[in-house]
Formats: sequence, structure tokens, C-alpha cells
Amino acid sequence: MRKIHNPLANEKIFVDKLSNKTSLDCQFCSYKINTALDELNISLSNTYAYTFSNAFKIDKWHSIIAPKIHNPTELQYQHVKSMMVLSQQWFGNASNHEFTQLSDDQSKIETHYFYPIISWDSLSKGGASQLHPHLQCFLSQEHYYGKMYGFLQNIKRSSGVYNSHKYDYNNLDENIEELAQSYREYIEDLINVHYFFGLTIPCPGDVNGLHLNDKSCVILSYLNAIKEHHIFVIYQPYEMYNTLNNSVNSFDRFVKAIYAVIDTYRAPVIQNATNKNPSLNASTTSSHPKYAFSGSIMYPPIKYRLFKDRKILDFPTIAHFVSRAPYFDDVSDFSAIELFVINNVVHDPYTTIKDLKSKIPLIKF
Ligand SMILES: [Zn+2]
Repeated sequence: MRKIHNPLANEKIFVDKLSNKTSLDCQFCSYKINTALDELNISLSNTYAYTFSNAFKIDKWHSIIAPKIHNPTELQYQHVKSMMVLSQQWFGNASNHEFTQLSDDQSKIETHYFYPIISWDSLSKGGASQLHPHLQCFLSQEHYYGKMYGFLQNIKRSSGVYNSHKYDYNNLDENIEELAQSYREYIEDLINVHYFFGLTIPCPGDVNGLHLNDKSCVILSYLNAIKEHHIFVIYQPYEMYNTLNNSVNSFDRFVKAIYAVIDTYRAPVIQNATNKNPSLNASTTSSHPKYAFSGSIMYPPIKYRLFKDRKILDFPTIAHFVSRAPYFDDVSDFSAIELFVINNVVHDPYTTIKDLKSKIPLIKF
């Protein structure tokens, strides 16, 4: 039985105190002298964020992007946007750096690094090694890393079965256009199922031409959650890297959705309690701040003109976020059940979508 969190405990006070304690000797605040450069040999930066190499890389291209603030409670939209813009720049530069190292040898091109992903943990309860907010960027070769590759394989298997009346699953790998179409139809219907259950919201943005059933950029409270408040952001302009300069508003909507998820976790609108049993309210509502979270973003493969004849699967950008245990909680939010048996989730997806719908109209981007 999971411990029920105290809805009155103020997590912000805990995080603020920890921030004061760690700010003076933070390696990320003094990144220019206390961190290393990656193979780009330069720290990319913009108004609110900067990059540096991860000291404990899992692969050749594995760097960190951090905002120019230490305290996670001070993270604002401009920080998240700067980090996301910088991540696009880093992915492009890193992949281009690899590209310029290649000869005309086609076999080397096959090992090119062009699968971009981001992982983001907040606070030690979320798995972060430092309090200073930061996300990790990875560029992998040949295919996405393990679980993301497995996630795509699951979609492929499911979409193949789901669309078996239209496509020959056994030959999908040979027909990349049909495989891509099969993926897209599966993901669009995944969105549709959640839409009809009232578990989606269009990503925030310019309301001109934006309809409530807009599904090109959607926030989705996932029915098959792996952890608390499991939220997808699915962004469907398939040519994001090629059209980034022409689709700033579109990319903005995706970034606003990412920020909206984080801001809803940490500062939800307090719902009026209707149950006289406070313990029951605590277990069925989520209206307490959650500064610890884990997230990931899987972008489509980066493509260059040289690869125009190569078969590359194209699919939407998919971001996941889950909330993690409160800082003041003295138990882990993972156990043998999650590791070896089944996902153990307390909050139902309607709690999560209710939080998002209450919060998003109030967010100042
Ligand atoms: Zn710091």
C-alpha cells in the first residue's frame, strides 16, 4: 500500500532551503571553470541557457543543457524555451560535426549519429544528480537507445497488428513508406481514443485557427500510465528540422506544452476538497506541488541532404513526463513491483487532465 502524501506539506519550502544550501558550490552555476566541453569544443549558450559535456557519458554525444538559474522553483517559460532551442542547435551541430568527419564511404554513413533524444530528471527524488535544473541530450547511432528503440518496436508491432487489414506486417521493413504510414495511423488513433475519453488538450498557442479537436500538437493524459501523472505531448509536424525556421509558432506550441506540464506539476490549481476524509482527498487529487519529475523527448531522426535516398522512418516527436515522489517523502516511488511486476499508479488519468485543464489557462508564457 502506497504512503499517502501530506497535501499540506509545502514542498517549495523544502526545495528553496536545499537550493540555498547548494548554490554556493554548484558546479553547474560555475560551468565555465567546473565542467568540460564535448567534442564540439564550445559551450553553446543563449540568453537563458548553456551547454556543457556530461562528465559521465554513456556515448560519444551526451551533453547537458542547463538554465541560468540554480533554484528549480524559479524555472520559467523563457528558461525552458531557451533550453529547447539550444537542444535543437546542439543536435544539429553535433550531427553536422559527425557528418563532416565522414568520407564518401557509405558504410560509415550507416553509423552516423542522428537519433536525438532528451532525458530530464528534476531533484534527487526524480533521479537528478544535481539540484540545478538540467536536461541531458543524446545523439545515438544506428537506432535509438534501448527503451526508446523498444518503444518504437512496440508501436511497430502494435501498428502492424492494428493495421494488418491494410499492410503486410512481415514486409513493413521493406516498405518504409507503408511502415511510416502505419505508425502515423496508429498514433493518430491513439490520440483519438484519448480524445473521445476527454483525456486530451490541444497544446497551448495562438488560438487563431486552433480548434478544440486540433491533434497536430496535443497533450494527452495516458490511459496506460507507467507512473503518476503520465503525460504525453505529441507533436506531429514530421519535418521539424527542415522547417524549423518556418514553423516557429508550431515549435513554440510544443515547448509551451512541455512547460505547461512542468508548471502544472509544481503549481497545480488547488481544487476544492469535497470529501470529508482528508486522507481520501489526498489520494484522489493531485493538488500539491510536485517539483520532482522525470521526462524524455524523442525527436525524429535528423536528416541531411546526403541521406535523401536512404530510407529513414519519420514519425512524430513524442515527449513523456511523470511526476516523482515529493522531496519530503521518506519512501521511494519505485519498488520491486514497478521493476519486476507491473506499473503501480495511484492517480487516475482524469485527475491529471483536470489539473492540466485548470492550470493551462492561467500560465503566463
Ligand atoms: Zn547551480
